[in-house]
Amino acid sequence: MTDLDALVPNLPVFEPGTVWLVGAGPGDPGLFTLAGLQAMRQADVIVHDALVGDGVMALAPPGTERDYAGKRGGRPSHSQADITERLIAHARAGKRVLRLKGGDPFVFGRGGEETLALAAAGIRFHIVPGITSGLAGLAAASIPATTRGTNHAVILMTGHPAAGAEGPAASHADWPAFAATGAPLILYMAMTHLDAIARRLLEGGMAPDTEVAVVTDATTPRQRVLVARLDTCAAEVAAAAMKAPAIVAIGSIVGLRATLAPFTIGPDAVEPGSGA
Ligand code: SAH
Repeated sequence: MTDLDALVPNLPVFEPGTVWLVGAGPGDPGLFTLAGLQAMRQADVIVHDALVGDGVMALAPPGTERDYAGKRGGRPSHSQADITERLIAHARAGKRVLRLKGGDPFVFGRGGEETLALAAAGIRFHIVPGITSGLAGLAAASIPATTRGTNHAVILMTGHPAAGAEGPAASHADWPAFAATGAPLILYMAMTHLDAIARRLLEGGMAPDTEVAVVTDATTPRQRVLVARLDTCAAEVAAAAMKAPAIVAIGSIVGLRATLAPFTIGPDAVEPGSGA
């Protein structure tokens, strides 16, 4: 086996009593980083989320303690406070704590909250970024996030309000303002409120035939891709029984998929209804 130390020469020493927040990437273990793998081999305990791919967890040494801290779509099995307390308790017990999160820890991953809590508790940490599902999900569906002829920006945003937020569905963001930028929207956690989000974008002046791509379980063998119009996407997603986790891309970039997908190598798209 390749000597990982030689491949990852600049990694800090994983000291006991510290917490490393590590991005697991979107699911495919091939998209996990070498630094993440190296840290995993040194950790005493791995505190992992529901979205960490099974293939990534399988890379952990069999003897390493695992502490599941899953939270899925509004039904927390563990509260965020509980998770940060556990991180602090493991670190105070003198362990090398690896906090493993789907995608990138600092992109809608609560990594910000967790590092703030660690800082408040006087615990040192290190961040190992991961490939965020918003970008990997597009790539896996043959959709370039930017091309010079198409767009100069993308907007990464959440379709889910913060816990405790009040008001009608999808009222947490000024959707018309985002629509007005003309930049494609890449939405995380948007499945629950897709219908309301689409309506707000239409009210905000986005064209009904704007293309939408929904990529579920991106980069895993279960990946599915659906392309639809903005005005019918929520109904089509429901009809196809597509479920979170999903990335929803809205805008000009989606159209490139039609040209690129037929030439893409790999387990791209299974269009619902195509029988494939
Ligand atoms: N930190 C993560 C995001 C966590 S928020 C990252 O950088 O990717 C959880 C949301 O991420 C899910 O609701 C979904 O929108 C998205 N997500 C994570 N993994 C995904 C995957 N394999 N396929 C599609 N969406 C995914």
